[in-house]
Amino acid sequence: MTSTWAAALARNWAGNVGYTCAELRCPASLAELRALVARNSRVRALGTRHSFNDLADSPGLLVTTAGLPQEVEIDSARAQAKVPAGMRYAELARLIDADGFALPNLGSLPHISVAGACATATHGSGVRNGCLSTSVAGLELVSADGELVEVARGQDGFDGMVVGLGAFGVVTRLTLDLVPAFDARQRVYEDLPLDVLDEHFDELVRGAYSVCLFTDWRAPRLTQVWVIERTDEPESGLVRQPWFTAKPAPGPRHPVAGFPAASCTEQLGVPGRWYERLPHFRPEAEPSSAGDELHSEYMVARSDAVAALRALERERERIVQVLQICEVRTIAADRLWMSPFYGEDSVSIHFTWTADTRAVLPVVRLVERALAPFRPRPHWAKIFTAAPELLRSRYPRSAAFAALVRAYDPGGKFGNSFLDRYVLEEP
Ligand SMILES: Cc1cc2nc3c(=O)[nH]c(=O)nc-3n(C[C@H](O)[C@H](O)[C@H](O)COP(=O)(O)OP(=O)(O)OC[C@H]3O[C@@H](n4cnc5c(N)ncnc54)[C@H](O)[C@@H]3O)c2cc1C
Repeated sequence: MTSTWAAALARNWAGNVGYTCAELRCPASLAELRALVARNSRVRALGTRHSFNDLADSPGLLVTTAGLPQEVEIDSARAQAKVPAGMRYAELARLIDADGFALPNLGSLPHISVAGACATATHGSGVRNGCLSTSVAGLELVSADGELVEVARGQDGFDGMVVGLGAFGVVTRLTLDLVPAFDARQRVYEDLPLDVLDEHFDELVRGAYSVCLFTDWRAPRLTQVWVIERTDEPESGLVRQPWFTAKPAPGPRHPVAGFPAASCTEQLGVPGRWYERLPHFRPEAEPSSAGDELHSEYMVARSDAVAALRALERERERIVQVLQICEVRTIAADRLWMSPFYGEDSVSIHFTWTADTRAVLPVVRLVERALAPFRPRPHWAKIFTAAPELLRSRYPRSAAFAALVRAYDPGGKFGNSFLDRYVLEEP
């Protein structure tokens, strides 16, 4: 990589992965992108570099779509928007909100690109909310021969292509389903004993539009419970339940104790637009650690949530040595082949680790051993050590996905070693 611009993008956001690609390009037009894809033998698309492993890397060319025209086309009658792949959710949210539309959910960070998020089944929380990829109704992508291909929900293989891990080509635009815009309010509660979950986990996570649970594992308790309610829905009464002994935080909070809350979205029950409450972090701020962190995340069936948390509790003395914070969220089941939520209402158990890979990896292995009875599926974009054959066994459609990738990309132009290892190589 030669230019200063490219050198600045040579590592992922967290800095723990250096891209090994030979070249990084940012075409300014679709024609330029198509020519680049057609004439290079190895190509992968890069989003906003927020993944924590080598999933996005390419042995040849890495290409970003951030330089393509960034117009959003809203079809109000169909409640859909055609969205540029490289656009960040923060920008998209403001544009669709101005037309009276919203997305049902957002991830914790609005800085990530739409294509990158949907390619990896990025999610927020809420028992009724699917991952962000479930809003995708259509994809436009540049395929291996440089042609522009359009696929839509209902077509053969579409459910395999949405959480596509970058394997089918360079997505240029996505059609997203929209919902009517709404307001929400967010409140943070502190200190709920873990024992409460034994009887009330389901009531707790069903108790609001989006509920996020945090623990630092220093004691058997949830340090914080973030409750987001829509203002157009009746209050659930969750926090008035006798078992809900957590206390309202007297001021704004960051999930990690001691970090300033200035980077977090507004709390204390102040109503605001959906996109200013659903993410944890404000678009104009970096999370306080500013990249000084590593992430792992495991999805298990929601019915196994409490047993999985109890298994982790038994390892908490080791976990706390490298942990900043652990977060538990819920995600509704979907039908997307490589989604970790395929066919199963799930919980995600997320770990923000300190930024020390050598110290973190043994604890990641320990966490995976503790969660093994619950058949965890790791987040595609985060740090994990699970063996490829184990991973494949947890995706009932993984063989169909590999066959679909070969049909679209017989020469393996969009492959890389991550895909070979975890998805494409025959067992
Ligand atoms: C601070 C932080 C908070 C996060 N919070 C959450 C969260 O709340 N929930 C959650 O689930 N995850 C979360 N993540 C993970 C994040 O959502 C994923 O890493 C996501 O993939 C990032 O998108 P990106 O644009 O940075 O993708 P990249 O890391 O750049 O790429 C990821 C994948 O997307 C593919 N891709 C990107 N653009 C295209 C394209 N145009 N065409 C085809 N393929 C493409 C790449 O090839 C690669 O395979 C978080 C990450 C960070 C750093």
